[in-house]
Amino acid sequence: MYDVIIGGASFAGLSLATKLSDCKALLIDKNKPGEYQRSACCTTLSIIKKVNCEESIMQTIKYASIHTNKEFNFKIPEPFCTIDYKKFCSIMLNRAEINFIKANIKGLKNKKIVTNKGVFSGKIIVDATGWEAVLARFMGLNLQNKLSYGLETEAPYKDDTLRIIVNNKIIKDGVGWIFPCGDKARFGVASYNGETKLLPILKRFVKNYGVKISKVHGGFFSYDKRPPVHNDLFLVGEAGGQITPLTGEGIRKSIESGLICGSIIKKILSNEISMERGINKYKKLMRTNDALRKKLIKLQMNFAEHYPTKLNIFFGAITNRILSHIFWKIYKLI
Ligand SMILES: Cc1cc2nc3c(=O)[nH]c(=O)nc-3n(C[C@H](O)[C@H](O)[C@H](O)COP(=O)(O)OP(=O)(O)OC[C@H]3O[C@@H](n4cnc5c(N)ncnc54)[C@H](O)[C@@H]3O)c2cc1C
Repeated sequence: MYDVIIGGASFAGLSLATKLSDCKALLIDKNKPGEYQRSACCTTLSIIKKVNCEESIMQTIKYASIHTNKEFNFKIPEPFCTIDYKKFCSIMLNRAEINFIKANIKGLKNKKIVTNKGVFSGKIIVDATGWEAVLARFMGLNLQNKLSYGLETEAPYKDDTLRIIVNNKIIKDGVGWIFPCGDKARFGVASYNGETKLLPILKRFVKNYGVKISKVHGGFFSYDKRPPVHNDLFLVGEAGGQITPLTGEGIRKSIESGLICGSIIKKILSNEISMERGINKYKKLMRTNDALRKKLIKLQMNFAEHYPTKLNIFFGAITNRILSHIFWKIYKLI
């Protein structure tokens, strides 16, 4: 019997694992940590510094540009960075004193996780399996499955600016992006409506920059509201809805929720607080601003309709030198 079992060894699961020293804990993932990258891996510099993973940084970025039929250039209120996912996962896994097993989770009943490598019991179970929230589903949580989809490639390209492309001629109900990472850049397109046939769109998009597609990766990202706890199952990261609608920014929130949940679980296990108090504390700390979330979801669902006039007004406001700092503070509440 383990003290804690975490399903999912990515941003959320690994951050949580680093908080569980001296616990009998098990981390399960169907892939080796860092083996399968599905994200553009661009996040705030401060969150990477918070988990002491500066070694995984490929490029620090201070400027951004939103391209519609106009161009909005601005200094980001706080610097971002692109990271090497494999390196990030390897650093975090080495730091966490935890047993890891590569196994596919196939069920959960009475705190027993069923995998293709055997059955494992834990006093506390954590779902960190991303948008699929597999453990929560096995416990009967009904998810709305509101999903967007993104596809990406990495190619040689030097830049110092984080670029978001909003153009109906490239992708109608979504966005494109170019995130520089050293001598390369990550080029991606995403559909807010969850359209998965994005390869021809990605090919056309990168052609504009004289880039050819080699390998592609990607996947779904969720924007439905999810509870941080289901019965006594903790949901961290994207499994627990820790991703911002419209921007699809999930790494910062996944790491933060993993760290918070890990500290609370440690206190529960050392009998500093009861399970009930721990659950309530986690729920309280994961509370998001629902009204703001709804506004962002509404905007993303009607994105194409607002192009270009209303979107230009919106981007003009959020990229304004003074207003951008206020918007950034509000954005972080979501
Ligand atoms: C194309 C794309 C680009 C993105 N770009 C960015 C970006 O630049 N910046 C940003 O902040 N966010 C980005 N996101 C969102 C971000 O990637 C996610 O929000 C983030 O990865 C969530 O972290 P997580 O740890 O909660 O889950 P995940 O990173 O999704 O990890 C879940 C883990 O669970 C494992 N798992 C799933 N099912 C099972 C199972 N049955 N058995 C065992 N293991 C299982 C998976 O193998 C995986 O390792 C992007 C998303 C996509 C799709």
